[in-house]
Amino acid sequence: MDLREKIAGLRAGMDAAARAAGRDPADVALLAATKTQSSDAIRAAIAAGVTLCGENRVQELDAHLADGAYAGASVHFIGHLQTNKVKHVVGRVALIHSISSEKLLRAVSAQADKLGLVQDILLEINLAGEASKSGFPPEEALPAAALCAQLSGVRLRGLMCIPPAAAAPGENLPYFQKLRQLAVDITGKILDNRIDMDVLSMGMSGDWPDAIAAGSTCIRVGSALFGPRPPMSPRKD
Ligand SMILES: *Cc1c(COP(=O)(O)O)cnc(C)c1O
Repeated sequence: MDLREKIAGLRAGMDAAARAAGRDPADVALLAATKTQSSDAIRAAIAAGVTLCGENRVQELDAHLADGAYAGASVHFIGHLQTNKVKHVVGRVALIHSISSEKLLRAVSAQADKLGLVQDILLEINLAGEASKSGFPPEEALPAAALCAQLSGVRLRGLMCIPPAAAAPGENLPYFQKLRQLAVDITGKILDNRIDMDVLSMGMSGDWPDAIAAGSTCIRVGSALFGPRPPMSPRKD
C-alpha cells in the first residue's frame, strides 16, 4: 500500500471514530511523527497529503528546516527537549507538545520573550508515573497551567500524553479520559486570555481509536504511516 492510500485509510478510520463518539471529524488532526525519516521521505509524505509533521529531535528539526523539507506543511515539536536546546525550537515550530517541567517552561518563555514572540505550547502529563518518561505528574498540571498564565512568552493550548504501549484495544482509554478531564478542570479553574485549552494531543499508531473516543484533537502517528522504525539511538539532546 502506498503512502497516499495509508493516509486515506487512516483518515477514514479517524473520521469514523470521531463520528462514533458524536464528534466532528474536522476537530481531529493527523500529525505525522517523522522521527528518523529523511528530508526526502518527509517531502514525499507531504506530497501524499500530510499537512502536519512532528519532530522529536532537535538535530533532525535543524536538518529538515535547513533542507526546506516541511514546505507545504506545518511542523510541531513533540520530543524530549532540554533547556539548553530551546533556541533551536522556540519560534521555529507552531506548537511544542512536550513541555515537561517548570524549568523547561520558564526557559521556553524566556527565549520567546527574547525573540519578541509568544510560543504556543502543551503541557506533557506523565499519567502513569513512568520513570522512563518525562512530563508533569497529573497533580502538577493545574499549578503548571497557572504558571503559564503568568509567563509572557507562552500561550497554553492544551495537554499531551504518551501512555504505556497498549497491548489491546481499550487499554489506554482510561488514560485518555483522564487527560481530557485534566484539561476540563484547568479550563474551569483558570480564566485567562493566554490560556485557550483547545488541543488534546493523544493517540499514536497503537491506540488512536481510543484517543479519539476520549476527545483527542491531534493524533501523532509514526509507524502506521512510515512502517516500523529502526530503534533510536540513546538520546543525546
Ligand atoms: C514516535 C512518536 C509517536 C508516533 O509513534 P508510533 O507508535 O510510531 O505511531 C508519537 N508521539 C511521540 C512523542 C513520538 O515520539
